[in-house]
Amino acid sequence: MNIIDGKLIANQIKSEIAKEVEQLRSDKGRAPHLAAILVGDDPASQTYVANKEKSCAEVGMTSSVYKLDARISEKELVRTINFINTDEEIDGLIVQLPLPEHILVDKVIAAINPLKDVDGFHPVNVGKMVLGQPAYLPATPMGIQLLLQRSGIDTVGKHCVVLGRSNIVGTPASILMSRNQSFANCTVTLCHSKTQNLQAICRQADILIAAIGKCEMITADYIKEGATVIDVGIHRVEDSTKKSGYCLKGDVKYDEVAPKCEYITPVPGGVGPMTIVGLLINTLKAFKKEF
Ligand code: NDP
Repeated sequence: MNIIDGKLIANQIKSEIAKEVEQLRSDKGRAPHLAAILVGDDPASQTYVANKEKSCAEVGMTSSVYKLDARISEKELVRTINFINTDEEIDGLIVQLPLPEHILVDKVIAAINPLKDVDGFHPVNVGKMVLGQPAYLPATPMGIQLLLQRSGIDTVGKHCVVLGRSNIVGTPASILMSRNQSFANCTVTLCHSKTQNLQAICRQADILIAAIGKCEMITADYIKEGATVIDVGIHRVEDSTKKSGYCLKGDVKYDEVAPKCEYITPVPGGVGPMTIVGLLINTLKAFKKEF
């Protein structure tokens, strides 16, 4: 069994990005700039945005955070987005999700300039991704493909079962893994909460990507001997032995699944660090005006 060290791979890619950023800064006179809009004071969202700022600093990118009150109207939020859309010194823009209930997420995402949509959630980028055209790819599925690539895992012709069909993880992961390109070319099955015989389908998987948001639901019974398991789930579980009072678990019951796998990602330290790397890669592309 091989543990895929997402933290190590993320750090390797970050140092490659940092070198490129340094070169770009001296060539163009400024570094790539990522702006994040944070609405309200949800602690998890605050942590995610703080981590993104920290990662930008690590690779020499500029970041700025627009903190907005939870009661902001949709119109005012869109006005802020329009302002950032036209700022030539800002290359990438993300709106941290979830948003307060009175705001329509689809409307907000559609307001982002697709050329600055470094989360890859805008319909233009989603459409381009589906068509196989150059586009900002959603960070988590991109991170998963990079993990497979950097670990030298052969994916061609393999059966990849994706658990979960969200717009940000499961659906784009299923599209990318089925593409006719390196570190893809899988035969893909996409499963969701209405899927019948889930265990039997998962047991056919050479590569299993779990993104269901159900803590440790995937037990050893779901796994074929020698499979590669990519665990996207993140759950805070109370743990009095930890200083923080909690530990992180995935969608996969790691201790019993790992011995059956050829490769597996841990939680924490697997997919999580790669999601931020995906965002940095997209911000670099935005700066270089690749699309
Ligand atoms: P969503 O809640 O948006 O989607 C969950 C998907 O799982 C849905 O498609 C749902 O089906 C399916 N599902 C739920 N229960 C079952 C079940 N019992 N059997 C089969 N399918 C099921 O989640 P996200 O995609 O946003 O996130 C998934 C997990 O990944 C979460 O734990 C999240 O915290 C984590 N995450 C981690 C990231 C990282 O960087 N590591 C980044 C993003 C997310 P249906 O469509 O039918 O409802």
